[in-house]
Amino acid sequence: MGKGLFIVISGPSGVGKGTICEALMKNKNIDLEYSISMTTRNKRDYEKEGVHYYFTDKNSFERKIRNYEFVEYAIYNNEYYGTLKSEVLDKINNRKYIISEIEVQGAKKIKKDFPNSLLLYILPPSIGELRNRLIKRGTESKEEIERRLKIAIIENKYSYYYDYVIVNDKLEVAVKEIEKIIKNKIIDNT
Ligand code: ADP
Ligand code: 5GP
Repeated sequence: MGKGLFIVISGPSGVGKGTICEALMKNKNIDLEYSISMTTRNKRDYEKEGVHYYFTDKNSFERKIRNYEFVEYAIYNNEYYGTLKSEVLDKINNRKYIISEIEVQGAKKIKKDFPNSLLLYILPPSIGELRNRLIKRGTESKEEIERRLKIAIIENKYSYYYDYVIVNDKLEVAVKEIEKIIKNKIIDNT
């Protein structure tokens, strides 16, 4: 019987991580459980509490840090983001396959603490296209988009750390490639 597997999806803001995870979750041939992160950033209009994130304030987040409630957490763009133990530990121990969107610092911690992990880094075809996607999504101000693009350039330098780097040019192609990587990992795992 296989072990639980922690799949981490990283990549710059706007590259398509959420879109890719949604497509992967719809694939009935791979039984993935999505780990819902906790964050202190403001909720976007299309996001739902307890579906996309657990939204909270800084004091509550810091209390949870002090109570060791996170597997990992990081500060991205002056906001906290973290993976709750309650969201992942039971599932991993029950040999489930978890998928989570986590930035580069958190991904490093997952690789260290969960030997059975699969780290995937998603790249855009270009920074210009990344900007277009963020503009098209329309959830951040111009200034915020530029801040996120600056972070993207730094984050992309850490992609060497990952098991696989996938370019999300055509969505269907990227999703197929990732499905293949996950299926192979699951076969190795069983
Ligand atoms: P992230 O979760 O990485 O911040 P999203 O999944 O929110 O990114 O995607 C950002 C925007 O780009 C969304 O409007 C989404 O529909 C769009 N998008 C995602 N993948 C592609 C793609 N391959 N080609 C064009 N647009 C895409
Ligand atoms: P966004 O504000 O665009 O939803 O997310 C910003 C960044 O935080 C993205 O790189 C996303 O992957 C990352 N992120 C989301 N949840 C977590 C988490 O639980 N832990 C860490 N370390 N990063 C996260």
